[in-house]
Amino acid sequence: MPPVPRTRLEGWSDVPIKLPSFRPRRDAYPPDLWTKCPSCGEMLFNKQLDKVLRVCPSCGHHFRLSAAARLDLVLDHGSFAERDGGLESEDPLGFVDQKGYPDRIAAAQLATGMRDAAVWGTGLVDGRPVAICVMDFGFMGGSMGAVVGEKVTRATEHALAERIPLIVVSASGGARMQEGTLSLMQLAKTVSALERLRAAGVPFVSILTDPTTGGVFASYAVLGDVNIAEPNALIGFAGARVSAGTIAQELPPGFQRSEFLYEHGFLDLVVHRSALRDEVVGLLRYLVARPQPVVEVIEGEPLALPNFRPFSFLTNLAERVLPPESAPAAPPNGNGAGPGTPPTPTPSTSGPRESSTSPPAEEAPRG
Ligand SMILES: [Zn+2]
Repeated sequence: MPPVPRTRLEGWSDVPIKLPSFRPRRDAYPPDLWTKCPSCGEMLFNKQLDKVLRVCPSCGHHFRLSAAARLDLVLDHGSFAERDGGLESEDPLGFVDQKGYPDRIAAAQLATGMRDAAVWGTGLVDGRPVAICVMDFGFMGGSMGAVVGEKVTRATEHALAERIPLIVVSASGGARMQEGTLSLMQLAKTVSALERLRAAGVPFVSILTDPTTGGVFASYAVLGDVNIAEPNALIGFAGARVSAGTIAQELPPGFQRSEFLYEHGFLDLVVHRSALRDEVVGLLRYLVARPQPVVEVIEGEPLALPNFRPFSFLTNLAERVLPPESAPAAPPNGNGAGPGTPPTPTPSTSGPRESSTSPPAEEAPRG
């Protein structure tokens, strides 16, 4: 029998072998307790992170906030009163991708406890009443469907009716594809409501958070009287690669970040989250709704109609250009005009048009 090869070193055989203990790896922390900062890699204790408004204490990375946390941050404590909380998306297109749209909504509702990606209501900022609409990126990427558009619009209309400032906090990837054209229609709807607000001189403060892109960026998010962004928020219309491809040019690094947009005049302020409420309080001290103008009623002038009215404009034009219709079809008078209506003198601007007193035979073919 051949000798058994020695596997242990001479003299070490009695030393007990101590195996290293295998502790769980650092990235295996339970997610409900810890969050890893995507910017600096630091592991952050969630409870601690909530206390510092979800801003990384070591690098200043701003994590996304839920709508509820945002309302707590901006408004006076306990002053928020939600409106239209029951609005819910339908599935007008019967849209199915990997899942049906109703299933996606149900899953998002379960995950966030919200009905849709925005909440609106009234509240107080340092004692001043405001109308506020806040988006939550956690609900289907904060996408704007009919419900989000409706809530922004209703918040705007309420601000207009009550003449109180409007605050909209955006966090969105853009329009909701599952609602197709209906979600694109929200762009026009929200913008037209905001235009009425602007014309009435009621202030609108827009707060852009990470991310504010697509249809939300292309509509209400950048229409504020003051546009405030959080640091390093992604703000833009299309993705960086699409933008670069569209104009076939290299784009500078960080061209869709708050700081770049601020330096180029697209934003008014970039504010750290810890200073956001104070900034809004300060702004609302200056931005007050213009007192409602006293409308002077002029006799015979229809009230509140814009100067340019397409239909009356066309009617006027037709009256000037076309011959009077009554001319060939009014033989009893012989004059081409009805009783009591003398023929109107031809305006000098009508050019080569025949006067209304000319024989009907000449005018008939032209009419
Ligand atoms: Zn960090």
